[in-house]
Amino acid sequence: MEDRRVNILLVDDRPENLLALKAVLDSPEYCLIQANSGMEALKWVLKKKFAVILMDVQMPTLNGFETAKMIREREKTKDVPIIFITALSQTIENILYGYSVGAIDYILKPVDPIILKCKVDAFVSMYLHKKKVIEQSELISKRTKELEAVSIELRKKEAMARAVGETSIDTIVFFNEEGEILSVNPAVTMMFGYLSNELIGERVDVLFEFSIDNIPRRANVDTVGLKKDNTAFPIEVHLADAEVENEKIYVCTIRDITERKQHFAQLESLVVERTKELYKINKDLQREIEEKKATLNQLYESEEKYRLLVEKAPETIIVRKVKSDKITFINETGVELLKANSKEEIVGMSIYDIIHPSYHERAKKVYKEIEAGLPVLPYEEKFVCLNGDIIDIQVKIIPFVYGGEESLHIVIRDITEIKRNQEFIQQSEKLNVVGELAAGIAHEIRNPLTSLKGFTQLLNHQFSTESDYVEIMISEIERINTIVGELLLLAKPTEDEFKQVCLEELLENVRMLMSAQANLHGVVINHINQQTIHNLFFNGVENKIKQVFINIIKNAIEAMGNGGKITLETTRLDSKVLIAFHDTGAGIPAHLLHKIGNPFYTTKEKGTGLGLMISKSIIESHDGELRINSIEGKGTTVEVILPVC
Ligand code: ADP
Ligand code: MG
Repeated sequence: MEDRRVNILLVDDRPENLLALKAVLDSPEYCLIQANSGMEALKWVLKKKFAVILMDVQMPTLNGFETAKMIREREKTKDVPIIFITALSQTIENILYGYSVGAIDYILKPVDPIILKCKVDAFVSMYLHKKKVIEQSELISKRTKELEAVSIELRKKEAMARAVGETSIDTIVFFNEEGEILSVNPAVTMMFGYLSNELIGERVDVLFEFSIDNIPRRANVDTVGLKKDNTAFPIEVHLADAEVENEKIYVCTIRDITERKQHFAQLESLVVERTKELYKINKDLQREIEEKKATLNQLYESEEKYRLLVEKAPETIIVRKVKSDKITFINETGVELLKANSKEEIVGMSIYDIIHPSYHERAKKVYKEIEAGLPVLPYEEKFVCLNGDIIDIQVKIIPFVYGGEESLHIVIRDITEIKRNQEFIQQSEKLNVVGELAAGIAHEIRNPLTSLKGFTQLLNHQFSTESDYVEIMISEIERINTIVGELLLLAKPTEDEFKQVCLEELLENVRMLMSAQANLHGVVINHINQQTIHNLFFNGVENKIKQVFINIIKNAIEAMGNGGKITLETTRLDSKVLIAFHDTGAGIPAHLLHKIGNPFYTTKEKGTGLGLMISKSIIESHDGELRINSIEGKGTTVEVILPVC
């Protein structure tokens, strides 16, 4: 706690004097400090502040005056009141000297305690007053300094505010509660056309098209400004209020937003334009999407169509990869062609599993050419079906991409039938030539036969031998003649003329013609019930019917490898006649019976599979009927029914 007591320094070299002074001045308000010498007094003065110093004049070493002088010389202590205590013996000169070195007062010894106390109290109260005055003046100067600092700050701020106001492009208007303009910055001239001082005292409303009362505080509001020349323009207004010494002041900041509005308008029109554009683009896009969808649908449709087209195409379509010989696709036609039950049976097979081995080399060569990018013309080869059948095909290969892989699209046409037809045509060509040749040869044979016959008859007359050798020779010559005659007849260019034909004669001639071949194969031909057709005529083309019977007998001979019997049986049936040919051949398995008579169906290595088909059509064109019955291992019966005259 601070010691609020007042310090009083008592200086005397005699302790009893000090004691006396202490006794007189003792008070709770005073802190009495004693010094025995001038030196000690000086030490104390350096250490503490004293309200008053009581100093004895006569002291050894440093007397009171000397000590006082030194105290006075020190700036800090020059004003401390010093009261000298001296004996009455002091000369006036001495007293004067005392004053000159700073004494305030003298107290003469012996000391009157009351006077001493009064004097000291007076000095202390003076000291206290002085101290208070100093403290107050210190406080005042401090406050003054503070005030100065504040006013400097204020002036700075004011200068800044003014600079801001003066350089601002925004108009800043101060006005009071009555709406009277108090001040306005220079920007108002540029913006509104008024000079700043022109507006002082005017109503703030002159600057606005609408009343400012409606504008909310402390918010940026878009409204319309009015220039001096009465033109309106867009502004942004910020209104704030402040209280200055109980008076309300309004600050209104006005910004010209004409340009911003223009920019905004431009931007807006740009946005509108862009939106329109976007709208159009969007529409176009939508249309495109619709179109794409439609095309896609069409694509699916056409894909479906294409799939059907491929599946049901008359040609077989096989797809295989270029890199591997595995089949990756086959259409339905192909499944049928290869006699498979399903696609799965074929897909995954090697293409070489279905190409006939004798064509493998050729196929490899073709695939190599295709891989090399060479054009390959359609070519022919043979396929082996899954049931072992061998078929003739024509192949066309188109390279393409299937399922993302380089593949070969192989189109296959079954040309077995065409091939057979070609062979048949070739065969008939051959037959035609042979027929023509036969006609010529027959003539050449007949002529010498006539002379041979004549001479043999002559020999018979001349030698009239007992033996019937000549008879035999003549009958054999007759036979040759008949056969050659038949050949000649068959080879003749066909006249498809219907005539009355004698069936008995016709059958006899056919039998005669075929007997040579029958003999060769150890086959005997018999005719039973021949009398039933005696003098029986039918209407037809003789050579064609002959061809039918020759075909039937030929088949029968061919069915009897180790010889056998052909029985020709004729039966009258009202207006029809039944001609049956029984043989004792191998017969036909029941499950194949229905195939007999189909074009090109043959079980023979050199067969054409056309004989029965042609025969059937000939008989049918004569309003007749051809039927086949057979028992496997026992024999076959071919029946021909013809209407008779
Ligand atoms: P091709 O004689 O050229 O084979 P065809 O049409 O004359 O042709 O005969 C067709 C098939 O009918 C013969 O391959 C044979 O299998 C069978 N066929 C015809 N006639 C007989 C028969 N008499 N006995 C057994 N099979 C026969
Ligand atoms: Mg035949």
